[in-house]
Amino acid sequence: MSSSDPSARSRANSTRVKRRSGDGAPSNAVEAASLSRARLTSVAPVEIEPERVAAVQERLLEWFRVHGRDLPWRRTRDPYRILVSEVMLQQTQVDRVIPYYEAFLERFPTLQALAEAPTAEVIRLWAGLGYNRRAVNLQRTARAIVEQHGDSFPKTVEELRQLPGVGPYTAGAIACFAFEQDVPFFDTNIKRVLHRIFVGPERPRPLATDRELHAIAAQVVPAGKGWAWNQAIMEFGALHCTQRKPACVVCPVQAQCRAFPAILSALQEAPRPERGPKEERFEGSTRWFRGRIIDALRQAPADSGLTLAELGPRVREGFTESDLPWLAELVAGLERDGLATVAEDSPEYNVSDGAISARRVRLPD
Ligand code: SF4
Repeated sequence: MSSSDPSARSRANSTRVKRRSGDGAPSNAVEAASLSRARLTSVAPVEIEPERVAAVQERLLEWFRVHGRDLPWRRTRDPYRILVSEVMLQQTQVDRVIPYYEAFLERFPTLQALAEAPTAEVIRLWAGLGYNRRAVNLQRTARAIVEQHGDSFPKTVEELRQLPGVGPYTAGAIACFAFEQDVPFFDTNIKRVLHRIFVGPERPRPLATDRELHAIAAQVVPAGKGWAWNQAIMEFGALHCTQRKPACVVCPVQAQCRAFPAILSALQEAPRPERGPKEERFEGSTRWFRGRIIDALRQAPADSGLTLAELGPRVREGFTESDLPWLAELVAGLERDGLATVAEDSPEYNVSDGAISARRVRLPD
């Protein structure tokens, strides 16, 4: 889309986003500036001028051409590979994903190979990447595609959204990155960048709703360049316009960015970055114990698995019989999520009287 595109202009002129004032304690410099700005600017409509859109498109596409990383999933348009990368990149950083992505595709090079594999093998290969549910969900998606569509991978956002485990972001990403459709979608990086450039600072409270940001995202995708544009804006959010330290001083869209004055002055005034909210302790959490159970099952004999009595000491130090109900509950949760199979073939098994130590658990087939 360019400034000379009349349809783009008319769509662009129609955008109005209401800003809302906010309150609350700022947790860093960017938030502090946003707070004062938000108080100064209550309920004023924001126009997305076509000139602004065109300049941002041109500059961000050029920035991406120079600074975009050469990542394996950017060298392919294979929808299966894009799907694998998008699932792995959820909550995991790019550098960490790359070796897993390559090993996974070596073992499961096609959608069919993944769909037909034993689930236990998929979970084993996921070891170390974390959030094991993603492995099971990814295979569910692959199986659903093979069952419902055979060899033909669904192409449209609407079709993709029908698949289990595929939300609006993943559907948009596949339609765009595999099939090069000019579709809007956003993750946290895209959302933050769009908000800052076209609306203003997003802290302490967003000044636009997700629906409004989606409308903006739809209007700023340049026709015929959706792949490059969405890659560019995601990369820009990941590397340049980051949440806590946006590089405003050397920003290629500084003149077009509505958040620039407020964020720059906050960055300059801040004596040093304030610490964010304290992160929740991971070790000892339910998620941590679930990961330890899966790790123990990965190493257990595939057919027989482990009894709860055998599993307990591998999961929790100082495990005793009184911990069995706790362990059984965790295992039941894993079974519900498709990450474990529990055999109730032991005559001793009876949760109500506490004789659950002989219950066998293994990775699913
Ligand atoms: S000027 Fe700052 S806030 Fe605006 S897009 Fe650039 S880096 Fe982001």
